[in-house]
Amino acid sequence: MPGWMPLYYDAPIEIVGGKGNRVVDAGGRGYLDFFAGILTNMIGYDVPEVREAVERQLATGVVHTSTMYLLRGQVELAEKIARLSGIENAKVFFTNSGTEANETALLLAAHARRSGEVFALRQSYHGRSFGAIAVTANRAWKNNALSPLTVRFLHGTDRHLPQFRGMSDAAYLDACVADLRHQLATVVAGDVAALIAEPVQGVGGFTMPPAGLLRAYREVLAEEGVLFISDEVQTGWGRTGAAFFGIHADGVTPDMMTFAKGLGNGFAVGGVVARGDLMDGPRAIGLSTFGGNPIAMAAANATLDYVLDHDLQARAAVTGEILLAGLREARPRLPMVGDVRGRGLMLAIELVHPATGAPAPETAARFMEETRRLGLLVGKGGLAGNVVRMAPPLTLTEDEAREGLGIILTALETMGEEAGT
Ligand code: PMP
Repeated sequence: MPGWMPLYYDAPIEIVGGKGNRVVDAGGRGYLDFFAGILTNMIGYDVPEVREAVERQLATGVVHTSTMYLLRGQVELAEKIARLSGIENAKVFFTNSGTEANETALLLAAHARRSGEVFALRQSYHGRSFGAIAVTANRAWKNNALSPLTVRFLHGTDRHLPQFRGMSDAAYLDACVADLRHQLATVVAGDVAALIAEPVQGVGGFTMPPAGLLRAYREVLAEEGVLFISDEVQTGWGRTGAAFFGIHADGVTPDMMTFAKGLGNGFAVGGVVARGDLMDGPRAIGLSTFGGNPIAMAAANATLDYVLDHDLQARAAVTGEILLAGLREARPRLPMVGDVRGRGLMLAIELVHPATGAPAPETAARFMEETRRLGLLVGKGGLAGNVVRMAPPLTLTEDEAREGLGIILTALETMGEEAGT
């Protein structure tokens, strides 16, 4: 395995089992899972509905896939996603991952608009293939600057920059929109293909544009026919509590949405849902033959049904609020916490040096070790690597939310005492 593969923790964890919202490592230690394998688990571990759906599919003997043949599981899942998307005359193409989903969406947009110029947001993460990496604005995950696209990065989640500091939401929003108009004016009219944006930035550290900004961007771009791609790889399926797809909370119906991660509850599945005319673009050929394999479709259909049947969006809003309110309440006692933020079950704690407010990535790394010791898994992210991220399965119970909160606060308090703050 390559040496650059970032395994987290001083002694990497090998997960060998899971039940409910907990996992077990090879040493037999159990953990409450507040990162869900980077959000790839949506409804907990060892869920009978998913296991039985996969076993039923395996029992048919149909374990191959090919874009040559009709697969009933794909049609069923596509119909559900098209309906939930709110996109008119929507069509769906399945991939194996979020990267491929974004690559497909960018190909569709470039084809439809006959242009390779795109906008993306600063601090974004969309994957690591050539197109996806080109629209990613995070040095930690960029491994080359060779791009098939011409990309311009927009403001939206960078209020900490000196030019925006102290601004109200409205003033910041106006400044961002003015910048977009200015950038549009520098490009040949009608030449930009799309804007790709995460409604809540995942790898960026659960940073969010102020309410209404993405809608304002949508409106300005629509004047020139520029397409809007919402990357819902982390924000889809009710995770934000506020809406089933993150962008819907802003009142925007995009031209395309990309999805992946939790939909298969661990099985590899991703895809694009797009306006039918874009998806039907004459030469927009699917990215590979392997997306939408029957086992993944069985898992995804069962997972999506489970999310809808149990209204996990509503549950994410409740458990997310328990966590956010608890963190906000404790924050004044915790000088190393620079910010707490989030929406639904996407919650972040930004760790800083108490004296200067500068990012403290070493504190985030230490926090991960400390919470691991106490039996809780979390993630991290942010441009400086100083943001702790929490995104448990949507099935998290209220008691588990309080249990996890207790561990987080204990870890922060212990670290504060050690640092003498
Ligand atoms: N988009 C977003 C918003 C993501 O968070 C990720 C994965 N972290 C991707 C795309 C890429 O997905 P994958 O790792 O499945 O290729």
